[in-house]
Amino acid sequence: MQPLDYLAVAPHPDDAELGVGGTLLSLLADGARVGVLDLTDGEPTPHGSPEIRAGETAAATAVLGLTWRGNLALPNRSLEATLAARAALAGAFRQLRPRVVFAPYWEDAHPDHVAASALIDAARFWAKLTKSDLPGEPHHPARIVYYFAVHLRIHPKPSFVVDVSAHHARKMRAVECYQSQFVAGRPTTPPTFLDDVRDRARYWGWAIGAAYGEPFLTREEVGLRGLRDLL
Ligand SMILES: [Zn+2]
Repeated sequence: MQPLDYLAVAPHPDDAELGVGGTLLSLLADGARVGVLDLTDGEPTPHGSPEIRAGETAAATAVLGLTWRGNLALPNRSLEATLAARAALAGAFRQLRPRVVFAPYWEDAHPDHVAASALIDAARFWAKLTKSDLPGEPHHPARIVYYFAVHLRIHPKPSFVVDVSAHHARKMRAVECYQSQFVAGRPTTPPTFLDDVRDRARYWGWAIGAAYGEPFLTREEVGLRGLRDLL
């Protein structure tokens, strides 16, 4: 398979859409090869089933127009950064060979999200090892960028915000594919869950003088080739 340029790794199907969906659309519009790797199938949940969730994921994937999407089939609700999970994810990195990996922000109420963030950090390091029995050739994703799909009402300071104004409507269409997660059984009086998703995107857009934005955080410094793209 031809290497990916960008890979978003998600604890559950729907996290990538929520946290980085607009940015993935922007990268795809620029001609990049963009994938999503879900670590679990996200089930059980109160209003879903494995079949419903798989159908919703396929629909969201089609709306986004992803180059590639896969699922590592690790245990939902019991996700842990084990050595076996690290080997599986490092093997995926070596085969998909992304330059940039998107990971969930490390502070979260959901243990799967905390575990996923730590697992991605560790697998990135393992992926470059020589003299290992991992599949594929050694590969080190140059960057990890953390997105916000967080089950805490916290307000981390992003390292940068991407203007996703041109892609926000399509991102929302992808998010809305997950009816079992974001619509079924949730309050229908405004502000609904989907209203909250839109309003936060609007807030981060306001913060950079744009209509809609997605915030990201990096541990390592962000390097720029120049200032041409600064808003
Ligand atoms: Zn999740």
